[in-house]
Amino acid sequence: MKAEDVVAKFRESGALLEGHFVLTSGLHSPVYLQCALVLQQPRDAELFGRSIAEHFQTENIQTVASPAIGGLVIGYEVARALGARFIWTERQDATMVLRRGFSVVPGERILVVEDVVTTGGSTREAVAALQANGARVLGAASIIDRSSGKADVGVPRIALATLDVTSVDPAVCELCKRGEPAIKPGSRKA
Ligand SMILES: [Zn+2]
Repeated sequence: MKAEDVVAKFRESGALLEGHFVLTSGLHSPVYLQCALVLQQPRDAELFGRSIAEHFQTENIQTVASPAIGGLVIGYEVARALGARFIWTERQDATMVLRRGFSVVPGERILVVEDVVTTGGSTREAVAALQANGARVLGAASIIDRSSGKADVGVPRIALATLDVTSVDPAVCELCKRGEPAIKPGSRKA
């Protein structure tokens, strides 16, 4: 799947919004991605999943793990394409952990998959949680990278499409300076 086709799917489904947004990271941006909208259609999710899986076919991935909630749908599809197991990590008292009876064995070969990487925080926390449980995390992937390739998650990382969009500290946000109200879509309250 080509990067421009990935971005086209986002635009078509309304998953790529333009305006003035507060991201989960607290940064402001003229672009907001609502991946849930592009993943509404299982056939599209399956396509993204297969495209990510292609990058890791030779890695003998045993398990795909995703940080909840954003990574769940795409991670599941990547696992399906790789014939791997699927588990997820989630925050408990602000710390990313394995719950629900999920466990990993020492040396288990794991790929971490998320929908969008902005700062890489969720993926980095998921990688750390899995490594703390003895897993061997071989890589990480997302549908979109909006860090312009800069996010470091501590393991090799790929994305189907890299967006070159500016995410800035509110203190230096041009849209804020113009007095335009910033919207916080998504689930976490400001
Ligand atoms: Zn702003």
